[in-house]
Order: sequence, then structure tokens, then C-alpha cells
Amino acid sequence: MSGIIIKKSKINKTGVFADKNFKKGETVLKWKPKQILTKKEISTLPESEKHYVYNSGPNEYVLQNTPERYVNHSCEPNTKVINKSDIAIRDIKKGEEITSDYSTDNATMHFKCNCDNKNCKKDI
Ligand SMILES: [Zn+2]
Repeated sequence: MSGIIIKKSKINKTGVFADKNFKKGETVLKWKPKQILTKKEISTLPESEKHYVYNSGPNEYVLQNTPERYVNHSCEPNTKVINKSDIAIRDIKKGEEITSDYSTDNATMHFKCNCDNKNCKKDI
């Protein structure tokens, strides 16, 4: 991987950060899934891994690998998941945390968001 670094985040324990400037539309991160699963197979995963499952198609679930699993949620994200990649939806400056909106990006995990954005959706 290049152009990103993993370090401590204020959103969650760990986050992904831009290590260079990205232009809108640029691929920030191309996923390398650990495993492709069916819905049934998700139940065989350890609890700790279930947080990193992403619904990538009809009955197709991706177990995210490092570093993409550390991209945190934001209600005002700077990337969007397209075709198992995180794509910049605006210009991103070096040093910014990479975020995506789990509620529109088909993440399978649900939680209460407490980001400080005024448009926060709260229940993700
Ligand atoms: Zn929020």
C-alpha cells in the first residue's frame, strides 16, 4: 500500500490516514479481501471478525483485510466504497483521516455514531 498510513485515531482506536494529497475520484485504497463469504458462512467467523464484514453483492460478503478494515465511519465521509475500493469523493489533504459512511456503504455492522458532524445520523 502507498499513500496511506495507519495510526491512532480520535474516531476509533485505529484509523487510516492520507500520507499524500488525493484528488476527488482517485482510488485511496484498493481492498484485498481476506475471504469472500456467503451470508451463511458469516456465522462461522469469530465474533471479533464479524465487525469487518462488508456486503459486496447479492449473497456476497467480503471479510476486510488490513488496512481497509481500519477505515472509520463518518457521517461526512471523504471516501465512498466502489467495487471494493475506497474512492475519494472530494480532495483529501495529506494527514486527513480517511472515512466512509457505513450506512450507505453496505457495512453489516450497526452502532451508535457520535461524530461531531451536524448531519450525524446517530444510528448506523
Ligand atoms: Zn455521525
